[in-house]
Amino acid sequence: MAGKVFRRAAKAAAAGVMHYSGVRKAMAAYRRSQSGGRRILIVSYHRVVGDFTGELQRSIPGLLISQETFRRHLEEAHAAGYELASIGDAVDVMAGRRTAKKDLCVVTFDDGYRDVYRYAYPVMKRMGVPAITYLPTAFINTDKRFNHDRLFHLLRRVQERRFRPDFETMPGPSLDLLGPILSGHKTVSAALDDFIGEHPTRILTGIIDALEKQLGGGADLMPEQGDVMSWDEVRTMARDGFEFGAHTLGHTVLTQEPTSVVEHEIVESKRTIEREVGVQVKDFAYCNGWYSDEIIRVLSQNGFRSGVTTEDLPNRVAGDPFTLKRKVMWENFSLGMMGDYSSALTVCQFDDCFGVLGMSRPVLGRRPHSLSSVVGGTAGANVLIQDSVLPQATLTKVTPVEVVEVTEPVRVTDTRVAPVVGGTQVVVASDVALASEAAQPEELQ
Ligand SMILES: [Zn+2]
Repeated sequence: MAGKVFRRAAKAAAAGVMHYSGVRKAMAAYRRSQSGGRRILIVSYHRVVGDFTGELQRSIPGLLISQETFRRHLEEAHAAGYELASIGDAVDVMAGRRTAKKDLCVVTFDDGYRDVYRYAYPVMKRMGVPAITYLPTAFINTDKRFNHDRLFHLLRRVQERRFRPDFETMPGPSLDLLGPILSGHKTVSAALDDFIGEHPTRILTGIIDALEKQLGGGADLMPEQGDVMSWDEVRTMARDGFEFGAHTLGHTVLTQEPTSVVEHEIVESKRTIEREVGVQVKDFAYCNGWYSDEIIRVLSQNGFRSGVTTEDLPNRVAGDPFTLKRKVMWENFSLGMMGDYSSALTVCQFDDCFGVLGMSRPVLGRRPHSLSSVVGGTAGANVLIQDSVLPQATLTKVTPVEVVEVTEPVRVTDTRVAPVVGGTQVVVASDVALASEAAQPEELQ
């Protein structure tokens, strides 16, 4: 915690100096020349809320920004010389189809939270700022809540009730999530942040189901906050020119899914928005920010023009429109030394001063897609990502690696694959070929 406060103070102090001495402008110019003429800043938000302090008690902090701070971000981007542009403009400028008179700033929202309709939409409409919202369509028009919000809520109940979970009946990695929280080493949101980035959806749902059961069920185990838009709300925004992109059906991290699921999640989410809203959908946001060549192939074959990541890096002219870089923003990115709103800090975030100085370390989203090269009769259906990781010794042979669990026998056709462990687990590199046993029965022992 002390480290965090210190880092915030250091950033705020640095921002003040850079902003008022003109160093910030020099850095912006440096980034501009690096990007090939114009900077293309894409910012990402999740929930824009009316009562930030109240919501902070109930929700994942990193997803929140107050309506007031959000409004100031837009004003400040404008004042710092950015043209607030659409994602299509950004893609065109990057591809050299259009020249920009100013640096571009594109506003994006992930997940289609209803807060965006309530608190961001009126502000943007009034200011004439375009934006795109990426929708996980199976959630829209339902009272479902996202796994991350449900898990956060359950973990807070565990904390409040000083509950001791029974790990015997929970998925293997549960202790990695709950251990640091129960021992007080990590906050719920920090532990959740670390955990979600490393585990597939089915582990999250496994923990949610187990915790709900152990905590005795009941309506108070489902979070009230975190509701998503209805199709009527989406259509209302679309009529005012706001754009919508696809974000899978079920908020699915696609790098962990076989090709058949990747195609279904991408194509159906696009079709659903097009049918419900009557607009063309050409833009996609990767869940967790994770992508692979396989996912990009499916996107470009199905009429998409762009894919946004959560890589905090500058976009470059002539860069890949399917790996657009984004800066994920939340309330505390604008908090100065005394915990108050800092204009200098906000503009320095926009201008990526901390990136230029190496003070922020971007997390890269490219992941090996271990399932893309599965061949044979049961392709796509016979291999699942394993949740446990094998001893490091087995993993050193191939990088990058994924551990996969084979639910039906497969034949490993790549020599770089480590030996099959216990008959059910294999370690494969991203481009390893696995053939279904049924496809080559004569070669089996
Ligand atoms: Zn998302």
